[in-house]
Amino acid sequence: MTLVKYKEKRNFDNTPEPEGKVKRGKHDLIFVVQRHHASHLHYDFRLELDGTLKSWAIPKGPSLNPADRRLAMQVEDHPISYATFEGDIPTGNYGAGHVDVWDHGTYTPEDEHQQPITAAQFAKNLEAGSIKFTIKGRHLKGSFALVKFKGEDKSWLLIKHKDQYATQEPYNSEDYAKKSSLEYTRKRAAKKAAVPKAIATKKVAKKAIKKS
Ligand code: MN
Repeated sequence: MTLVKYKEKRNFDNTPEPEGKVKRGKHDLIFVVQRHHASHLHYDFRLELDGTLKSWAIPKGPSLNPADRRLAMQVEDHPISYATFEGDIPTGNYGAGHVDVWDHGTYTPEDEHQQPITAAQFAKNLEAGSIKFTIKGRHLKGSFALVKFKGEDKSWLLIKHKDQYATQEPYNSEDYAKKSSLEYTRKRAAKKAAVPKAIATKKVAKKAIKKS
């Protein structure tokens, strides 16, 4: 049932994204962060739970600096197979743009004392709007919290706890983005900049024709 929204939003004849299904496993729970340049650039933060990926869109990207409280908008659950998805979502489709995996690994659900808890307890905490977990990734490491705004439906904050992986320095996830991701964004910006110029050139050309 939990992938209903995911499927409603997509036409799998027109997008290379996986259709996927609910898939429960006995392995360590996975996490993935995907850099998604759709209409706006954002980072999709996903935690495996109960056979799907619980998902949040983070406009500024995750941070290892505990002073940063990154807004995370909860979005529809994604299938586990989405964790390895990279590529272009064609124009006209939901989330059209480019997706790259920015970080991936495993995570441990924890209680407020950073002690491991069961997935079932973690699911209850998620429902209650406050989860804690330790991540083992390439860029993201250590203890984090995701906390829902009181009285809000979908707005959460991703917060890094102070530990040996935390930094006091300004953290920009774009500094760790793949070359191909940055290249896509650069090309798109160049294209956008070229459009007004092309229109201006046409207008000048039209005027020139009228005058002659
Ligand atoms: Mn997205």
